[in-house]
Amino acid sequence: PVCAAIEVAGTGIALPRGTGLPDALFDSDGQITKAPMRALTLAALAPVPGETLWDIGGGSGSVAIEWLLRDPSLAAVSVERRADRAARIASNAARLGVDRLRVVEGTAPEALADLPAPQAVFVGGGLSDALVAALRAAAPAARLVANAVTLEGEATLARWHERLGGELLRIELARAAPLGGYRGWRAAYPVVQWSFRP
Ligand code: SAH
Repeated sequence: PVCAAIEVAGTGIALPRGTGLPDALFDSDGQITKAPMRALTLAALAPVPGETLWDIGGGSGSVAIEWLLRDPSLAAVSVERRADRAARIASNAARLGVDRLRVVEGTAPEALADLPAPQAVFVGGGLSDALVAALRAAAPAARLVANAVTLEGEATLARWHERLGGELLRIELARAAPLGGYRGWRAAYPVVQWSFRP
């Protein structure tokens, strides 16, 4: 089982209804938006029934899959440049019973041409000035949410926030972990999140 803790006797897994599902539900190579960040990301994406999401830098697909699990009328496209990860996105979606995820193996922004117009876009990888500019041009009415872990990504988001406004959040999480014979806070990299509604 992917996540024994939520296995229901004889019937496979029971998916919780909230967002920020356990990381263990998604097969990944470590590149995954962790559950607490994912919950904040879904809150910022704020899906409305009938909408389409572009999930750029899909990784394990966890963000797009959680978007789709919110409502059966939602659609999503995950764009991922690595073939192994694109395949993993598709298998995660299939295993979790989500059959509405379109996976595009390719590099954004080039791979975005010809996709169905989104109402919301998440940038989890490939962040650059050029990518945000391309997204603004391709989908001017779409809500944008972008997460950055690097200083370079953070600088990009600070510039777009200065230009367009929106909300900038810095999220610093720490989890209790063994430290010698005791416990200590193991800090994750801070994540800067920019959310923008046109
Ligand atoms: N949100 C994902 C994790 C994203 S990790 C999850 O929860 O699983 C960032 C991903 O972006 C990596 O898989 C990387 O291969 C991909 N990536 C980086 N630049 C990209 C680009 N320009 N186009 C498409 N994918 C990109």
